[in-house]
Amino acid sequence: MNRTCYNTDLSLKDEGREVSLVGWVSKKRNLGALQFIDLRDRSGIIQITVQEGVSVPDVRNEYVIRVEGTVHKKDVPNKALKTGEIEVLAKKIEVFSKANPTPLIIADDTDALEDVRLKYRYLDLRRPVMRHNLEKRAQIVKAAHQYFDENGFIEVETPCLTLSTPEGARDYIVPSRVSHGCFYALPQSPQLFKQLLMIGGFERYYQIARCFRDEDLRQDRQPEFTQIDLEMSFLDQDEILTIMEGFLKKVFKETVNFDLKLPLRRLPYKEAVDVYGSDKPDTRFEMHLIEVTDVLKKTEFSGYQSAESIKALVVPGVAPVTSRKVIDNLTLEAKKFGFGGIGVYKVNNGTVESSLAKFMNEEQMKEFVALTKAKDGDLILVLAGKHDPVCFALGALRSKYAHELGYVKPNTYDLLWVVDFPLFEKDIHDGSYKPLHHPFTRPTPETAQYLDSDPSKVLSAAYDIVINGYEAGGGSLRIYDQDMQKKIFNILGFTNEDIARKFGYFVKAFQYGTPPHGGIAFGLERLSMIICGTDNIRDVIAFPKNLKATCPMSNAPEPVDEAQLKDVGIKIAEE
Ligand code: ASP
Repeated sequence: MNRTCYNTDLSLKDEGREVSLVGWVSKKRNLGALQFIDLRDRSGIIQITVQEGVSVPDVRNEYVIRVEGTVHKKDVPNKALKTGEIEVLAKKIEVFSKANPTPLIIADDTDALEDVRLKYRYLDLRRPVMRHNLEKRAQIVKAAHQYFDENGFIEVETPCLTLSTPEGARDYIVPSRVSHGCFYALPQSPQLFKQLLMIGGFERYYQIARCFRDEDLRQDRQPEFTQIDLEMSFLDQDEILTIMEGFLKKVFKETVNFDLKLPLRRLPYKEAVDVYGSDKPDTRFEMHLIEVTDVLKKTEFSGYQSAESIKALVVPGVAPVTSRKVIDNLTLEAKKFGFGGIGVYKVNNGTVESSLAKFMNEEQMKEFVALTKAKDGDLILVLAGKHDPVCFALGALRSKYAHELGYVKPNTYDLLWVVDFPLFEKDIHDGSYKPLHHPFTRPTPETAQYLDSDPSKVLSAAYDIVINGYEAGGGSLRIYDQDMQKKIFNILGFTNEDIARKFGYFVKAFQYGTPPHGGIAFGLERLSMIICGTDNIRDVIAFPKNLKATCPMSNAPEPVDEAQLKDVGIKIAEE
């Protein structure tokens, strides 16, 4: 093609140079004597100027062209362009292909609806912001390959047609043509295989692994996603976290030139919930939850007297703008979390104004304000009830207010490990135990003694990496002792048949010499979102699904031919 260089490789120092450039017509202006074409390639835009007398073919937006010409200094630089000090005076233009008018504006600022962007994703991907996002994503993957290779990890691929992996979501299933009535499950993660690789003696494994979970979608969830997946043998938790911190340091340095201070903070789960009301706290701002049980229990309000836990959140400076309507909305929020209502106290002259103030005497008000360290003009929100729900609901309000008040600065990153999770969560309906992580997670040595007497007291050797309020990854040390694994399966209510059917092959492998091991998986999309500063996971995936789990471009999923269904022995039931 004789392409000389990318558009943005050129600058004033190239003045006079003969170049040949290729790309898309981003914009064209015809001023009669002069024509201006903004030529866009992967690197960016450069202005092509066609002077009077130069004969060129007619070009329109998004035509793909080649331009031969000379680099020339512009009289008036265009500050909006990286190449704004120069233009290329065209001698010849060749059209490779024409283009229809596009259904969306190809620029960072586009008013196109997301479904239109997804339907014409190949056009959406021409927007610089999308390319930037995918470049950052690729940089993370590159950093992973380099770092883990340098640290002795072996990249191994594991099957996509497999059996269910117990990550707690619904499986995508694939019917077998050879064995009618039998189904593969797409992997929710490579969990079982990576542990088998440890039994297979690999010691350090990694993979950029595709994972599939049939869950209801949210802003930060897609049915198929990618994990940077790792497993290691003969390392303890600190050694594993240290290796992972090295990786994160490299990622943040190479993608956003941000220097991480290591080691990262380790925050016990209990403290995360108590202080931030979240197991993935956004620690870029303070707004800690405050324990006020003792003070408020002394008041006359019966809703407080019977509560297990009462916590407060101080929202600085918003009391004067907290109208009746705002209070009604706060009540609605509290109701969403299962509370009857929320205490809303405006601080004024060192005491409080609230519909609940009548239940407090002067001294109690003062004690309450002093405990919360609230100042005049602050709002104190109070929830009372069971400890964890109180914390989680206030945690949600904490983050809502912090965003509204602009406490969350862009381009700042706060990373921490949340550790010491409970091993199980208890179902509030039937009292059964479910793994908080997955059933192969090792209990901590200090708390394993409670497995028989009170499993809810057992903590796990699990760790989550939390960045700016996102769980960007998580992992654990695994059980390597068969008796312990059996015990955990029992507590989880698995029958011997369940075990044999679901993980018979896995349990069997443990009988042949299992090294102590542990691992982690980073969510590549979550990391990319954080690095790119977007809260929409679809912005870091080239061809994502929409919130209905369909692809507006290809229309997947679609019905298949009768013959294909027959092959796999499936009949679609009438609705
Ligand atoms: N398989 C786990 C997950 O997908 C991560 C791990 O424990 O390594 O969350």
